[in-house]
Amino acid sequence: MIISGKDLSARMKAEMAEEVKQLSEKYGRAPHLVVVLVGDDPASVSYVTGKSKASEALGIRNTTIRKDVSISEEELLGVIDDLNNDPGVDGILIQLPLPKHINSDRVIAAVRQDKDVDGFHPLNVADLQLKRPCTLPCTPMGVMLMLKEAGIDIQGKRAVVVGRSNIVGLPVAKLLLDANATVTIAHSRTKDLASVTREAEILVVAIGRPKFITADMVSEGTVVMDVGVNRDPVTGKLCGDVDFDAVAPKASVITPVPGGLGPMTITCLMRNTIDLFRRHQGE
Ligand code: NAP
Repeated sequence: MIISGKDLSARMKAEMAEEVKQLSEKYGRAPHLVVVLVGDDPASVSYVTGKSKASEALGIRNTTIRKDVSISEEELLGVIDDLNNDPGVDGILIQLPLPKHINSDRVIAAVRQDKDVDGFHPLNVADLQLKRPCTLPCTPMGVMLMLKEAGIDIQGKRAVVVGRSNIVGLPVAKLLLDANATVTIAHSRTKDLASVTREAEILVVAIGRPKFITADMVSEGTVVMDVGVNRDPVTGKLCGDVDFDAVAPKASVITPVPGGLGPMTITCLMRNTIDLFRRHQGE
């Protein structure tokens, strides 16, 4: 079964558009997402454009603040301070990566926790660890929604997450653990990775290596969630971390790239924006 993130996204967006309409009528303004973009990296510009279009389609107000790559850390912190203090702003997203002269950790920590729409703030990370209600990072949230969409009963399953980044691998592993899977986290120093991934009943891959997971690394019937977004070095087309054509026949469920977890990430960002708006209205 190929699980389309596009289809699930479309359904979630239709529901959210209705929700935003009702909330805007009730509270006299729409949820407001502000994206801060430093510099003009083409990939970042394209992600920001995608977020802006998705917001508009749902009736969410979107502001993109563009700053020159030469902006100082202090100036950027000043921009965030203003947004933190603006009661008309619900979500603040700092488009990463930031230029090297800016300390990203410091900038992320400067966003107010209740406006941290990406779920990257240290207090949100801590709340996730402590199983407290929090804003979840969007891609891990997308993985969990796709598993739900596929009707996967996670409890008791052996899950392997390949990749241990703060934004994808680690939070996905925690969410799977909280859903009572038995979780293994693999990474670039894992010995005999194939023997680890073959143990997986649920395999989540977030490493950033085109078509790295081959058919021999996956057991029959595995549920495969491919987070990777890469360019195929041969065709130049978008591809995942999983060799889709080779792995799909063995997998019971698999997500495609493109059209899998990518659309879900933006949809979850919209979800988080609406949830923060609700919180700011005292709901
Ligand atoms: P990252 O910060 O670069 O982390 C990559 C992780 O993969 C690291 O933990 C690294 O291990 C591990 N790794 C690298 N090579 C490996 C190998 N050969 N074997 C086993 N593990 C290996 O990347 P990320 O930000 O998590 O992103 C991962 C992928 O997901 C990228 O393709 C990115 O574009 C994509 N992504 C997609 C979305 C979406 O919306 N769909 C969102 C975010 C990211 P070490 O820790 O040992 O270095």
